[in-house]
Amino acid sequence: MKEALGVKQFGRIARIPSPTGFDVGDVNSYLILPEADSSELVLIDTGVGRDDAWQALGAGLAQFGYGVEDITLILLTHAHTDHFGQAPRIRRASGCEIWGHEAIHASVSDYLPPPPRIEMEKQFFRRLGFTEAMYDKIFEYRDYVGDIFEPCELDRTLVDGDVIKINGFDLHTTHTPGHCAEEVVFWQPETRQMFSGDHLLPDITPVCLLDIPDQPRGERVHALTQYYQSADRLLPYEVHCVYPSHGDVFSDHRELIAGYKLATERRLLKICRILQEHGPLTPLEVGQRLFPRVWHDQLYAVCSEVMGHLDMLIDEGFVSAEEDLGLLRYALLSVPEPGVIFPVVSH
Ligand SMILES: [Zn+2]
Repeated sequence: MKEALGVKQFGRIARIPSPTGFDVGDVNSYLILPEADSSELVLIDTGVGRDDAWQALGAGLAQFGYGVEDITLILLTHAHTDHFGQAPRIRRASGCEIWGHEAIHASVSDYLPPPPRIEMEKQFFRRLGFTEAMYDKIFEYRDYVGDIFEPCELDRTLVDGDVIKINGFDLHTTHTPGHCAEEVVFWQPETRQMFSGDHLLPDITPVCLLDIPDQPRGERVHALTQYYQSADRLLPYEVHCVYPSHGDVFSDHRELIAGYKLATERRLLKICRILQEHGPLTPLEVGQRLFPRVWHDQLYAVCSEVMGHLDMLIDEGFVSAEEDLGLLRYALLSVPEPGVIFPVVSH
């Protein structure tokens, strides 16, 4: 893990990191400092609902002469608990509003799905080769989330293109699903600054979480494919500075996205080679060969990665899937040439 970042001011933006208890380390909240004649105090993302995060936020705000009670509006990049966890408590203290993308609604009402849904999820994972014990391990994190979870209703839902009026610092909402369905980035056009949430991260590749459908064989969103569609929409932006939810500020978002694509292409080719060598495999078997050392400890991430890449190979016609005795197996049709999946685009 990289060294923790501190509270820091960048013009009207103040970064306040807080601990999350997750492997990812601290999460950055960003405060939009008001103009002299305004009392409008906007906070982007909140940190988890724990006392140490609450104290970190309070101490950060105090450095700029504010308290939690001064916050007038919370904007959420997405509804993972490290981003919205403290929002209800801040609203109680300040009376502020909470805004986020319209797709947030379902994910912030409860952290634990009802029993029939859990049964369905188990069937879904069984089909991909995962045992029930593996399923329990995948969702182990729900216990921790349960300890810190508080449901959060939105006061206003945002959609792609919405402009959030902030005194001299309007933010434009761009919907960027992929990491999760409701992810948005906020763009400040005059200063060319972007709040990228978990969509663009400087030190780690965002995991595109596996979409689990309502039925074991239901339609799924191809999250990795969707992620790159979202990322490509950001390429034309002339960005001066990006403020990510984890890690330090950075400037060249195009270089970052190009790096992600290179890594994804390498992984796609590696999966093709694995299928070439071992014949048709279940997603679990692909994951075990792709990540021989860590697959067991990071089942959710491994499963999301494998499915995201297999979906992409299916979409592009390089792989086929067949079900036999309740197990889904993927077979190689042909190996893509480099540059086929991510052609070089100019903007
Ligand atoms: Zn997230």
